Amino acid sequence: MRSVISPAIILRIREFGESDLLVSFFAEDAGRLKGVAKGARRSRRRFPNCLDLFCLSRMEYVDRGKGDMLFLDSCRLINPFAGLRSDFSALSLGSYMVELTEILFPVGVGDRRMFALLRRAFEALDQGERGDRLRVIFEGRAMSLGGYGIGLECCSRCGRPYEGRGRAVFLRTRGAIGCLRCAKENAMTPSLDPPAMGALALIQSGDWKALRRMGLGPEVVSQIREVLKLHIAYRLGEKLKTTRYLE
Ligand SMILES: [Zn+2]
Repeated sequence: MRSVISPAIILRIREFGESDLLVSFFAEDAGRLKGVAKGARRSRRRFPNCLDLFCLSRMEYVDRGKGDMLFLDSCRLINPFAGLRSDFSALSLGSYMVELTEILFPVGVGDRRMFALLRRAFEALDQGERGDRLRVIFEGRAMSLGGYGIGLECCSRCGRPYEGRGRAVFLRTRGAIGCLRCAKENAMTPSLDPPAMGALALIQSGDWKALRRMGLGPEVVSQIREVLKLHIAYRLGEKLKTTRYLE
């Protein structure tokens, strides 16, 4: 039995028994966890406004070593991300991000970089950012952290290294690029031009400074969007339910 205090983002909440809440959250160090907040629906003293969907809270919990269920002792609100719940497009994009996180990170698989990504994405949604730019940044980085990064270094058929010139195509069954000698461009093998290749590499490695310097124009976003759409559908397919609300 050990007590832990950690910043965490609330992913899901559901009523449990007479007065408890069942809370799924992503903790900075420990990753995705589930816990019971005893009496949380009656007592607002231990849990003052800190167990709302998608908010960032400082969570105190106890691991009693009984399965994967923890006990939440108390929590304190750090950032409610109120703007995230203020309109439908932000809420559905936030829900989609949560769903992708849940698929890529099973309970108990910790990754501070994933926590940082989720936090930054929710901050951006809270501040009014919407749409494909934020979406491709989140998707590209989350897929990479979850072990599904797209291979960009060389053609996955002939092995020719990509030298930063000319277009490459995305081959979804390989989860990697191919050169134009080995594959033709079409709707199922869309192409990436050099700026899009560069931007996707920066997104996957989480080099936000370089990405800001480079800028992420609509044409680049749209190319990356097409590639990630095919990649995620192929790798995670039926597991994703939220995506249909985003199209
Ligand atoms: Zn090739």
